[in-house]
Amino acid sequence: MPDSQLAPRAGFGGLFALIATMLLAAVLSLALVWSEFAVGYPSFSWTMFGVIAGLLVICEGTPRTWISLDRIDTVTLLPMYAYALLLLGSPSSALGVAILGNLVHSATRQQPPWVWLLHLSRTMVSVATGGLVLFAMSVRGPVTQFEKIPWRWALAIVLAGVAILVLDTVITEVSASMRRRVSFVASLRRGLALRLTAVGSLLSLAPIWVIGIDSSVVLVPLLGITTILVFTSTRRALERAQEAHHDPLTGLANRRSFSEHLGDVYGGVGAPAGGALLLMDLDGFKEVNDHLGHDVGDAVLVQFADRLTSSLPLNAYAGRLGGDEFAALVTWTKRHDDVDSMVQNLHARLTQPLIVQGFPVSVGVSIGVALVREVGRSGAELLHAADVAMYRAKRLATGVEHYHDDIGAIQTGRLGLLGDLGAAVRDNELRVDYQPQLSMTDGHVVAVEALVRWQHPKHGTIAPNDFIGLAEQTDLIGPITEMVLRMATSGLLELGAKDVRLAVNTSVRNLQDRHFSQNVLAVLAETGFPADRLELEVTERSLITNAHQTRDTIADLHAAGIRITVDGFGTGYASYQTLRLLKIDRVKIDLEFVLRLMQDPQDRAIVRSVISLAHELGLEVVAEGVEANETWDTLGAMGCDAAQGFWIATPMSLTSLWVWMREWQRISLSGDPACGASVDNAP
Ligand code: C2E
Ligand code: MG
Repeated sequence: MPDSQLAPRAGFGGLFALIATMLLAAVLSLALVWSEFAVGYPSFSWTMFGVIAGLLVICEGTPRTWISLDRIDTVTLLPMYAYALLLLGSPSSALGVAILGNLVHSATRQQPPWVWLLHLSRTMVSVATGGLVLFAMSVRGPVTQFEKIPWRWALAIVLAGVAILVLDTVITEVSASMRRRVSFVASLRRGLALRLTAVGSLLSLAPIWVIGIDSSVVLVPLLGITTILVFTSTRRALERAQEAHHDPLTGLANRRSFSEHLGDVYGGVGAPAGGALLLMDLDGFKEVNDHLGHDVGDAVLVQFADRLTSSLPLNAYAGRLGGDEFAALVTWTKRHDDVDSMVQNLHARLTQPLIVQGFPVSVGVSIGVALVREVGRSGAELLHAADVAMYRAKRLATGVEHYHDDIGAIQTGRLGLLGDLGAAVRDNELRVDYQPQLSMTDGHVVAVEALVRWQHPKHGTIAPNDFIGLAEQTDLIGPITEMVLRMATSGLLELGAKDVRLAVNTSVRNLQDRHFSQNVLAVLAETGFPADRLELEVTERSLITNAHQTRDTIADLHAAGIRITVDGFGTGYASYQTLRLLKIDRVKIDLEFVLRLMQDPQDRAIVRSVISLAHELGLEVVAEGVEANETWDTLGAMGCDAAQGFWIATPMSLTSLWVWMREWQRISLSGDPACGASVDNAP
């Protein structure tokens, strides 16, 4: 996709400011050239000019000699060299060199024309003003003859330098404030110290260059070394100053800076009416880290950040809020369609594989979009709304979601939910529903699966997919699993059906916990539930993450008589070798395959081979997601051992399960085992 598609629309204000700066640059430059030819400057050394122009071209073409303050703003040695030429007594050559340097810089950086024009005008305005200051104070010719320089000349040198520094900074900050839509004062507050340090220290070297070269060209290497040292220490100082505000890995703004920027943009009067906050979270990043190592993970984050900044409109402000979460504020967008196509393009770009250490690595990204027009201008609310939308995009696997007031069930994002989750565990807001599994041979209830729900005081019932992932990122997953286990084991004992097993889901982090098996056994001892009636469902992903600890945990649980089922089997992580080596009793075919069983011949082939291979390995097979009679019949013909799904029964409370089981028993005894639909959705 060409960059132009993502380029900002030049607002009238920005365009006007650019034209005004260009006009000012032209007027001041003409005035300076006129002053040179009208008054006449003593001839100057072409050798000096050659040396300085040559060094300038090299430096402007070498990114190592630039100090990047942001995507557009870069401090280079150009003002120093142009100032040196002014001091050598050739204003027009200083201007010529400024144009040349800007051209080389722009070509090396491949900047759009408006950025080049802005930088060029800025340099011309500041250099021409510096030259006019020297002219106004009657300084003519090279300022190298110390004994002949009256005090006025020394003052003129200082004033010319200060003029260059001030104008360079003011123009840069005006353009930055318009681009980022922050007030000039806010922009100056953040950028002033950095700019003054960087440009000021380099400018102060110009008189030394002039005097040095005038004494002897042999001093050039020495001056070069001095310049490199000053440049390097300036860069280091700036880097240190930026560390507090930037993420050290990607160089993007950190969470603190990003929030401050939001406040700057929308905090004051005259804040833009439009804008969109994009919150992005990588999909599958954990797998990259777990399987390919943290070095590759870091490289992915760095490349992703680069791709993000190069894909965003130039006036966007990007940040890494932590982990694999990024954000961007785009302030130019006014119309909804613009945001839509911009975000869709961005998503398409960001999801292309990254090449890390020569190999393609694919990570997805979920983007949540909050529009200022819809959400308001409070930074906190924008972040919250984008978070809600992003979380929804993740949950629905849609890639991009916009925040709308009618977004549905959960109006709180992960941040809000995470805050409430601790209290939910403490205040017993979690409850368990049960879904039965039937034997496919005789139709009796072989097991029930415990499925957790969160009864949120404000948001109503929240499904496990909306909070288990969050709990997995914190230490709450341990207490949650134990709580479900305690509730479900007591519940099943209350139900009294002694031949029905209980299946409880576990998370990757549970199996990696060295104390997990002991904790499970402690709960069983506490509730008196027999270990051989408990079945723990482990995800396929758990089997390959930190395999050593997982294997030990599974072995301990198995030794205690607990059965292990691989949940969502077939999604591609665990090999049959893994199943063979670990103490696995059952596999549960992933719901997606079963849901498509009747439509897709490939899914049918997969299910058939999973069943036969699992049987070869001595494992039992259960299919989840049985929604229709035909699916039941097809699975039965394939030899599947048990089935679970909405056609049999949806997940239900313990009381409903008790009623359902009695009804089911009555129907089975009447000799019609495969008529699950008749008791489906029991009250
Ligand atoms: P799962 O373990 O694969 O659970 C089955 C999910 O499929 C349940 O969703 C169930 O309602 C749904 N389902 C069952 N039959 C059908 C059907 O015929 N058609 C369709 N479309 N869906 C069906 P639920 O309750 O929303 O749970 C989602 C997931 O959340 C579970 O998937 C499990 O991975 C996780 N989960 C649930 N409870 C717990 C828990 O206590 N601990 C942990 N770690 N994870 C849990
Ligand atoms: Mg399960």
